[in-house]
Amino acid sequence: MRIDLITLFPEMCQTVMGESIIGRAQKKGVLQVHCHQLRDYTYDKHNRVDDAPYGGGMGMLLMAEPIADCFEHVCQQVGARPYLVYMSPQGSVLNQQKVKEISSHENVCILCGHYEGVDERVLEEFVDEQISIGDFVLTGGELPALILADAISRLAPGVLSDDECFEEESHFSGLLEYPQYTRPSCWRGRDIPEVLLSGHHANIKKWRHQQSLLRTANARPDLLEKLELSPEDQRFLAENFQQNDKE
Ligand code: SAM
Repeated sequence: MRIDLITLFPEMCQTVMGESIIGRAQKKGVLQVHCHQLRDYTYDKHNRVDDAPYGGGMGMLLMAEPIADCFEHVCQQVGARPYLVYMSPQGSVLNQQKVKEISSHENVCILCGHYEGVDERVLEEFVDEQISIGDFVLTGGELPALILADAISRLAPGVLSDDECFEEESHFSGLLEYPQYTRPSCWRGRDIPEVLLSGHHANIKKWRHQQSLLRTANARPDLLEKLELSPEDQRFLAENFQQNDKE
């Protein structure tokens, strides 16, 4: 997978994407991340990329032409037109399903807005999708873009050591992940559930699934409503979960 970020703060993006698992994936060659300075695509001698909105009002907007030039340069570098996402509080709110969909594109370009956003015509001309990270407003698109870039990168083949890592994680199957424990088995008087020491893989798997069900029913009942639970799962929840079980 190749990810290109169009931003006023490429160093910030490069630094974050250069760390830990995502940084190692780039060194291994299973992921490419390129950060482009939008100011390099302006003809203005002061490298201005913003201007006041027509009709007046507060703040400035990123101009269309530098974004267009930068994106066209990215297309040339990639040798294909990447899927272009604009980070915006007006976009659809990101979730794991959306992450999966976007990660199915081999080349993804992410445009980070700034100031009051970007000239609307850029969105009409180039942008495939607008994504929000939640119903709140940040000063710029870099943090949202890094969240999206991280989430799609870890689904790219070879980035995580084992695909099952994410298949069992929260949201992949629509459930939250079960509780997990590491050594010591007794910490400050708290023992771990006995089944985890049994070595009985089928029982451990069943216990984990049931814990996922309980956790989701407790913390995110809205997620459970979207799932078609098996009769066995329905029975388990009916017998083991009551609304007042909420922590
Ligand atoms: N005037 C815009 C509006 O009301 O929709 C908000 C602009 S915001 C101050 C500046 C930039 O931050 C946006 O262009 C966008 O790229 C980014 N941004 C802010 N909040 C975001 C969010 N919740 N999700 C994704 N991007 C966000």
